[in-house]
Amino acid sequence: MKEYGNFIDHQYIVNLLEQSRFTDNQKINEILDKAERFDGLTPEEVAILLTTENKNYQERIFKIADKIKQHIYGDRIVMFAPLYVSDYCVNHCSYCGFNCKNKFQRTRLTMDEIREEVKILEAMGHKRLALEAGEDPVNCDIDYIIDCMKTIYDMKLGNGEIRRVNVNIASTTVENYRKLKEVGIGTYILFQETYHKETYEKVHLGGPKKNYEYHLTAFDRAMEAGIDDVGGGVLFGLSNDWRYEILGLMLHNKHLEDTFGVGFHTISVPRMCPAEGNDLSGFYPVDDATFLRIVSIIRLAVPFTGIIISTRENSDMRKELIRLGVSQMSGGSSVDVGGYSKGNYSKGSQFVTSDDRSAQDIIRWIMEEGMVPSFCTACYRKGRTGDRFMELAKTGNIKNVCLPNGLMTLKEYALDYGDEAFRVLADKVIEKHIPDIENEKVRTLVLENLRKLEQGERDLFL
Ligand code: SAM
Ligand code: SF4
Repeated sequence: MKEYGNFIDHQYIVNLLEQSRFTDNQKINEILDKAERFDGLTPEEVAILLTTENKNYQERIFKIADKIKQHIYGDRIVMFAPLYVSDYCVNHCSYCGFNCKNKFQRTRLTMDEIREEVKILEAMGHKRLALEAGEDPVNCDIDYIIDCMKTIYDMKLGNGEIRRVNVNIASTTVENYRKLKEVGIGTYILFQETYHKETYEKVHLGGPKKNYEYHLTAFDRAMEAGIDDVGGGVLFGLSNDWRYEILGLMLHNKHLEDTFGVGFHTISVPRMCPAEGNDLSGFYPVDDATFLRIVSIIRLAVPFTGIIISTRENSDMRKELIRLGVSQMSGGSSVDVGGYSKGNYSKGSQFVTSDDRSAQDIIRWIMEEGMVPSFCTACYRKGRTGDRFMELAKTGNIKNVCLPNGLMTLKEYALDYGDEAFRVLADKVIEKHIPDIENEKVRTLVLENLRKLEQGERDLFL
């Protein structure tokens, strides 16, 4: 096995944060100007923004985040839902309701049960799932995960089908990542939880996940196996220094860029929620104002990386975040194994969620906010992953590809799952956004495709 080494240099991060506090205004302005040109930021520049307490600068950071979001992603918000398949877990992560010390009846779904869950998710109109599982090499081995993925991709309910399965499972071997690649994994997602090694070792009390280095180098192995869309994240609230965590993310991203030519496809920003045996005491919850700072600085730093939020955040916070650069959101989610069939939406057994609106209510709300909920999975299916996706993003072509796909998939959703009022609202949103498609030929094609969808054709994308 290749050794990737530890690219998170603790002392470097600590020194950087310390030195950055003394940056002069001219330098800060230069960094903000650079961010405004959509050029992204180096970890050193990010450190300076993280340590700038001046309110005026913070206001400017929010404005730039909004501008980047508009310029690169437009009004689209990509929708997805989690699917928990197994809560068996051999790890003792002190913050998680699934940890091996919690006593409850553990389950893993049979393939028939998966079909039941997927039927419900497809009936909600979802096209993109994040498959989630605890770590247990005996009760939930890689072959089980592979079977789950095959079962999901094979399911079709009327016009419903899951077109992209992202996977969030424990750090594993190159061989196992290859198996996931073979059955068509979308993004491989894994949160580092905390980049601060000492904290990492304190909150991971037992099990294979306790090994910081093995967890940290998961994406190297995934990329070696040919998975080129990987999604990072940290669990905010674990360590007492959120600035450290953002720099950890930046250094991780840089390491992947330097080594494989492409960094994170997405970054998730989960904040810790209460869970069985975790009332948040002993942790460091991040307040709302800080959280908005976190998301906006990430948006400036990596303008082409998607930012994901889940139903850990309540509707008010989600409303603010969609302006600041969040590009993907879950809706109608259950964080319980078999939760969709049981109708268990808000009280998951892994942690307690905060937005229990139905998927359709969230989709309608996004449109009422003037935005475009998108069910697009085209890039992955057209092989535009890794650096090919980044190429598309960096040449500004998202507007001529992603927006059209967003509008077409919204139309498809409205026809298949919406009532009359919903369809009228969706048509208004689509009409309003057609002029934003810059290329005239593409605009004509989209109008033609919208008509074809009305006539019953499906799955049209660029
Ligand atoms: N078991 C795998 C792992 O730990 O990497 C993957 C799936 S785990 C179900 C997904 C994520 O849930 C974890 O990475 C962790 O960040 C998050 N999580 C665990 N406990 C949480 C809590 N109390 N509040 C919010 N998120 C939590
Ligand atoms: Fe298991 Fe993941 Fe929860 Fe840790 S975070 S206890 S590995 S499910």
